[in-house]
Amino acid sequence: MVVLLDVFPRSWVLMTCVLCWCVITEANDHCSRPLSRIVRNQLTEHFYSVFESKSEEPHRKCPLHLDRDLYRFQEGNKTQDYPSRWVCNFCGKAFLSEHYLDMHFDNRHSDELVKGTTVCLADFCDIFRCEVFENPRKDFFWEKKLCKEDRLTARRRRCEALMRSCLPQGNLSLDKELEIYEAIGANTCALLNCKNYWKPPHQEIAAWKIILYAVITPFFVMGLIVYYYAIFDHYFGDYPTDISWSREEEEESISLSRRSRRSPDLRKRYGGRPLMY
Ligand SMILES: [Zn+2]
Repeated sequence: MVVLLDVFPRSWVLMTCVLCWCVITEANDHCSRPLSRIVRNQLTEHFYSVFESKSEEPHRKCPLHLDRDLYRFQEGNKTQDYPSRWVCNFCGKAFLSEHYLDMHFDNRHSDELVKGTTVCLADFCDIFRCEVFENPRKDFFWEKKLCKEDRLTARRRRCEALMRSCLPQGNLSLDKELEIYEAIGANTCALLNCKNYWKPPHQEIAAWKIILYAVITPFFVMGLIVYYYAIFDHYFGDYPTDISWSREEEEESISLSRRSRRSPDLRKRYGGRPLMY
């Protein structure tokens, strides 16, 4: 470095370093991690699972092949201990969210990207409906109204060509090939029309949420029952408010009650209420 500084001006060396850093970071800057994740999740659910169930593997040249995913190593080295703890398996550091772990991968483990003929899965977002998965609760009212069928038809054809390129290599019976093709296209290509494109993805509830609801719900119901019983008892409960009556007060009350029974004319006159004199 000292030799370099002697030969070249300091500003030149600095500019060269900045340029190198820009080139290195640009390599994966264009590839959105969240969008790639949306595509990857769909592939795991509807694509790789189909091949596994048939004991087959996608064609080596298929752009969606697992080995060509730019972020495959990094994504495989994430551990989520619980909702707010994400751990980097390369160095053991923990983060509050997946977003910060992604930033950590960019800053510290950029050398752990898949090398060679890599693919950015986010580039297939138009086929895998990323915009719908990004906003699962959005209505997409205007998008539905302004939807152009011919544009989606072009996407569907591209999707079908992509799926055909992924069919397993080797001697496969026509029936089995057609079976795989229809299964991998059912949740992708088949949805690329104005009727189905904007359908929201089914939202699966995480296991920890189900457990949380199962624990909290009985306590909540019990709390409600106790609350309403207390209110009912307060307003309609049939017991004296002051239970510390003296013996004399009790005898006086009984005496008044007897006198009241003996005087039907008075009871009639005062509406059956005990006489308070
Ligand atoms: Zn790390």
